[in-house]
Amino acid sequence: MRLWIKTPLGGMPDGAGGGLVVEDAIIAAFVPAGGQPDAPVDETFDASAHVVLPGLINTHHHFYQTLTRAYRPAIDKKLFDWLVALYPVWARLTDAEFRVACRLALAELLLSGCTTAADHHYVFPPGLGHAIDIEMEEAQALGLRAVLCRGSMDLSTDDGGLPPPSVVQKIDTILADGERLAARWHQTGPGAMTQLALAPCSPFSVTADLMRETAKQAERLGLHMHTHLAETEDENEFCLACFGKRPLDYLEDLGWLTDRTWFAHGIHFTPSEMQRMGKAGIGVAHCPSSNMILGSGICAVGALEAAGVAVGLAVDGSASNDGSNMMQELRQGLLLQRAGGGITAATSRDPIRWATQGSARCLGRDDLGAIELGKQADLALFKLDELRFSGADDPVAALITCGAHRADRVMVAGVWRVIDGAIPGMDLPALLASHDTAARKLRQEI
Ligand SMILES: [Zn+2]
Repeated sequence: MRLWIKTPLGGMPDGAGGGLVVEDAIIAAFVPAGGQPDAPVDETFDASAHVVLPGLINTHHHFYQTLTRAYRPAIDKKLFDWLVALYPVWARLTDAEFRVACRLALAELLLSGCTTAADHHYVFPPGLGHAIDIEMEEAQALGLRAVLCRGSMDLSTDDGGLPPPSVVQKIDTILADGERLAARWHQTGPGAMTQLALAPCSPFSVTADLMRETAKQAERLGLHMHTHLAETEDENEFCLACFGKRPLDYLEDLGWLTDRTWFAHGIHFTPSEMQRMGKAGIGVAHCPSSNMILGSGICAVGALEAAGVAVGLAVDGSASNDGSNMMQELRQGLLLQRAGGGITAATSRDPIRWATQGSARCLGRDDLGAIELGKQADLALFKLDELRFSGADDPVAALITCGAHRADRVMVAGVWRVIDGAIPGMDLPALLASHDTAARKLRQEI
């Protein structure tokens, strides 16, 4: 199957004004402006009204949190107080509510141009034993690539941690589930659709033993590792008080400074810590909206990249964003860097790079994140036919500065998963109704 995506309005590499040819799941050829494909095609898609971007790659999320958006007791609180307000609600999660939360989050991501979604799920109350399997099934059903992080917590309030005992697990249970999930879901090589990463939640909810054993298990199984790090000053103070060291030093001692690691947030690092991270090949999932809503600070994206750290972009969980719109996050990323560092802090093209190449590096995926020959045909196509774009000159910059938030077409592995701004076969009103019911059930209103 060969498809010619013909004469896009913008987003093509130099010399490819005539578009690109997708063959099966791969970007197989470029077409010069005014030219024709070098070999016959089966189909042609007229993209003259579309700006084409590499499919967006979300590097950090918590799908289940779509059920606790704008939760009254957590509004206007900073991270630790916000978590304490929400843990008891999350402790009531069951498979049924969790599944509908995942479906909604994945649909929202896909419709915003996201083609690869990383999720970090770390809450395992008694009613939710197979959370990662459910996430994988839902991602497969929608056709997104999934890099799902088997999260974990084993340090409850009983032992000096932040979460209540009802949402933590024993270390043996966590490691055994990681082993099972890797065998069931982790694909390797170009084009992998489902991958597993291991992801203890944070220094204030996980024991040193679990961090260390996870690093060993990840190395043995060849998996990436993920955790929240340097999100707030409170976390620095917690680590100094409990471990006598800063978060990065703590993790280095536990075997985490490898090129298979990416951190969520990464705001409060010193310049020398950034250098160490760059040398180790670590990535950072930058979450601008979440950082702004929780007042956590501004990630030093430019300094991290200058130090060699891969910076990806992410929406973070939907109780601290509170949306899961990946395209919208690009604009937020630009605005936050400019607000913190002035006009030279980022260009209007930089957020696209963070959300594609940078995110792909975080996840260790050299087959994704660029419109290049041989890469996976993961593409997000945006139209500029809304009021907000009217009068725009540069079509690519317009996506960021005018605020694109809805893809018209999305392709994953050569297959259209969004057509005319909708997911074929998905009953969106039914999904919204069941999601609303699940959220109200979690809030104990029904
Ligand atoms: Zn998070």
